[in-house]
Amino acid sequence: MMACRVCHNSDGNREYQVREMMFGTRDEFKYIECASCGCVQISEVPADLGRYYPPEYYSFDTTTPQKDSGLKLFLKRQRARYALYKKNPIGFLFIKWYGLPQWYAWLGKRNVGLNSSILDVGCGTGAFLQALAKDGFTNLRGIDPFIEADIAYPSGVRIKKQDLADLTESFDFIMLHHAFEHMADSRAVLKNLYRLIKPGHYVLIRIPVASSEAWEKYRENWVDLDPPRHLIVHTQKSMKILADEVGFETTDVVFDSRGFQFWGSEQYKRDIPLVDPRSYKIDPTHSIFSTEKIAAFEARARELNANQRGDQACFFLQRPI
Ligand SMILES: [Zn+2]
Repeated sequence: MMACRVCHNSDGNREYQVREMMFGTRDEFKYIECASCGCVQISEVPADLGRYYPPEYYSFDTTTPQKDSGLKLFLKRQRARYALYKKNPIGFLFIKWYGLPQWYAWLGKRNVGLNSSILDVGCGTGAFLQALAKDGFTNLRGIDPFIEADIAYPSGVRIKKQDLADLTESFDFIMLHHAFEHMADSRAVLKNLYRLIKPGHYVLIRIPVASSEAWEKYRENWVDLDPPRHLIVHTQKSMKILADEVGFETTDVVFDSRGFQFWGSEQYKRDIPLVDPRSYKIDPTHSIFSTEKIAAFEARARELNANQRGDQACFFLQRPI
């Protein structure tokens, strides 16, 4: 039996044959679940992995950029100042009226200011960095080895077609939003992150997790296994093993799973791919789920998150001083 790439255990590991269902090619891939650390990993990285990232894959994540008025931009910047520095009455009011984007939960209280150097690893075309630029962040970089070419936005955001291993400068904050699970060698990636983050500063890794009810319930049909794109799906335990080994301190694990873990997996169980016309993702009005059912899925996700049993989490790793 194949040994676990994280803890090297080869005793009692379980095998699964899993189908590609995002695009519905239904190609099969072998995964193993480590009996010791629980980490779920592809047994062999396909040589032709690139063909599972068609152009449609990237179009999923591009949020249509909004045109913000000067006033809106001004208010967003006041909001950022309030969220990060807790001083600014206009920002406080703007937050009261419009709420605070999720990212301030990631950046606040973690040594991040508007001029901090922030790196987004696996950023695609950089939609999130562009949103941060609008809020007044001034030092934003992204890398993604799979984009067509480098991008330099008028906002100052710079995106490079580059590998993590090739970076040499250091950063105040590094984040990976659902990118880590697409990289074959978690250990090497963490070592590079440790090298690139300044001492005392944080790395945020957002990933699907197999120490979740959804994996235990759905197994081969679990939507967040996403073969063959997700090469390694960690558990809290396997993340801790690697973080400790590299020298990071895991300061927080915050669960942020959504109802997607249920409706996506229920669809796969019924042989409905994510991009199928019957899929909730494609057309919520003709989905097999009622509005009430979707709301119930979201409520269940919130419950699981509170108990650290949701299927997606944010790991905050600090490089000690
Ligand atoms: Zn293991």
